[in-house]
Amino acid sequence: MLYSTLVEFYARLEATAKRLEMTDILAELFGVAEPDELEHLIYLTQGKIHPDWTGEPEIGMAEKMVVETISRASGQRKRRVEAILSESGDVGLAAEKSLLDKRQAMLGEKPLSVSDVYNAFDQIANESGKGSSSRKIDRLVRVIVNSSPLGARYIARTVVGTLRLGVGDMTILDSLSLAFTGSSENRGQLERAYNLTSDLGAVARTLAEEGLESVAKAQIVLGKPVRMMLAQRLSTPEEIIEKLGACSAEYKLDGERFQIHKDGDSIQIFSRRLENITAMYPDAVRMVSTQVKVNHAVLEGEAVAIDADSGEIKSFQTLMKRRRKHRIEEMAERFPIAVFLFECLYVDGDDLTPEPYTKRRAKLQDIVEETERFKLVRALQTSEVSQLVDFFEEAISDGTEGLVVKSTAEDSIYRAGARSWLWVKLKASYQSKMVEPVDLVAVGAFHGRGRRAGSYGALLMASYDPDEDMFRTVCKVGSGFTDEDLLSFPELLDGERAEDKPRNVDSMLEAEVWFEPNVVMEVLGDEITLSPIHTCAFGRLREESGLAVRFPRFLRLREDKAPEDTTTVEEIVDMYRAQSRTQ
Ligand code: ATP
Repeated sequence: MLYSTLVEFYARLEATAKRLEMTDILAELFGVAEPDELEHLIYLTQGKIHPDWTGEPEIGMAEKMVVETISRASGQRKRRVEAILSESGDVGLAAEKSLLDKRQAMLGEKPLSVSDVYNAFDQIANESGKGSSSRKIDRLVRVIVNSSPLGARYIARTVVGTLRLGVGDMTILDSLSLAFTGSSENRGQLERAYNLTSDLGAVARTLAEEGLESVAKAQIVLGKPVRMMLAQRLSTPEEIIEKLGACSAEYKLDGERFQIHKDGDSIQIFSRRLENITAMYPDAVRMVSTQVKVNHAVLEGEAVAIDADSGEIKSFQTLMKRRRKHRIEEMAERFPIAVFLFECLYVDGDDLTPEPYTKRRAKLQDIVEETERFKLVRALQTSEVSQLVDFFEEAISDGTEGLVVKSTAEDSIYRAGARSWLWVKLKASYQSKMVEPVDLVAVGAFHGRGRRAGSYGALLMASYDPDEDMFRTVCKVGSGFTDEDLLSFPELLDGERAEDKPRNVDSMLEAEVWFEPNVVMEVLGDEITLSPIHTCAFGRLREESGLAVRFPRFLRLREDKAPEDTTTVEEIVDMYRAQSRTQ
């Protein structure tokens, strides 16, 4: 496929905010693509060259480098390119306009194929070391001189990481189903394969080349993360026992979730967002290699920072110091961790995800040689409210967040990619009158005044609506920030700045600055209230009214969470209902 054909689809996608229309446009694109191009097409459309979990380098060029490239490719002076950029705020438009202005003077345009562009991106991503910046620029100049002005718009946005077509994974699955099976009804089967492998490109390719039957046979593949199972929430032990009956209550440690893949000597660790974080935790890799007694396994657990002498659990913030690219061994020494295991999804060729909890836990116990730093999380099997209450109190006094209570019924499978009622979390904060913290994504901001001049005074926060792939506002948060937080916000958020309200944001409030929904924060409020100015669950509980978090306070950043992992509109509705029941 020619890149110029692909970007015509991009322009059509950009012109609509309706999810159904986007699904149709993408289905048409997938229908005309060759099966072996699909994989690259999908990642390019998401602004990447491969899924995050591969651990391969991403393109990531600085805006300054791209300005230099545009200037060289178009023959425009650098100042002129900078002027268009500062006027439009969009490196894509700067590239397009520069090329349009100088196009007549250009010679020998060679049509670019999608593979040409993909390969160039791949080579740019893999340039490293001395002189790599200028080699990256050279490579990009060669692509842009051969592209159309419209193509240059999308190429420039892709390399700086601002290609945002608003196409989520679920929209792609719908479109694939539509393109290759004639209806989006078969999405479920595609989703299952995707949940087991997290590999949209491979799912698409198998579907196009071999059909739905082959997709239905998808298996866990070592080295490709399984999309993680998540928990629902309830506020009392009584409700939990009523919902689950016999269950196993496990300590809920506040750290980072690990999904560990052991494939002989090759050990990889994936985060909650399915990033490959192996390189950051060499100590965990060593523990897996010595303490896991089988050759092939997929395990899950929570890693927490601990005090080296007392073994006491340290805060989530301490653990986050381990999330870095340099001086890794030194940090491993300074901030040691322990891994508390709670899942076993695969052992030596056997997929355990369809097996019940008790079987998976027994297998985990079998294959792990426990140490103080690498062991199974504490668990208690019960069906008694009073035992659950005691165990919860013990968990809190041991410094955990509370419990994750798991069904032990026959059907208590591992439901990849689902927030399931087979797991229910019970946290300390749910017990108070206050609403539990929610994870929200920043979509806009209002400038600070007085002491906060130069930073943001308040942030507009949204919850996620997975059905429509939209972010809907629930509150403006302006308190709970430390001076340090305030200082860090411009740097943290300015990379996400958007010219206008992003198409996947639903807001009635006019923010002074808009952001692409990417930065997730934990926010605690006093309660959930009806609100005529917020769009979360608008019209669901009362006409002309949505839901809002009242008196919201910022607690902390949740860099471990993707925007799609934020508290959903549905959960906020549930929280509102639960709260109304107890009043
Ligand atoms: P939270 O914000 O409460 O950490 P979350 O949205 O990350 O929640 P949930 O599925 O709602 O994810 O809660 C489960 C999370 O708790 C897991 O992702 C995991 O990181 C952590 N956790 C800690 N201990 C356990 C455990 N024993 N079993 C399952 N998850 C656990």
